Amino acid sequence: MSWEQDVVAKHGRPLAEIEGHVYVLHYETPQVVKSVSSEYAAVPPQQDQDGFLSATAIRHYVGWTQQANPRKRINRHGRAAQREIVYLEPGTLRDEETMKRVGVCPKCGENLRDSFAARS
Ligand SMILES: [Zn+2]
Repeated sequence: MSWEQDVVAKHGRPLAEIEGHVYVLHYETPQVVKSVSSEYAAVPPQQDQDGFLSATAIRHYVGWTQQANPRKRINRHGRAAQREIVYLEPGTLRDEETMKRVGVCPKCGENLRDSFAARS
């Protein structure tokens, strides 16, 4: 079962409506980030046991987690010293999607979608 099916089965609600936390990470020095979402990955994606690797070093990452302690999930995105949590608020996957598409980094003002991998 995929993690999405797992979460839906547990809550009995569409995935987009389940409450979790939306977070935005700002990397002062851009770095390659591991993720379960494909927007940051190359085509075909490179991956390891933790997920897809971003196609290039990126400055921002937008994620969503269902974990009670979001920081545990965030710790899987690389070493804390190189990463700043610039946004962390309750929200759904739908909120995450909105943040990815139209959000701006609260720290540097850059469009968060600029970190997506280029698609030909
Ligand atoms: Zn930023």
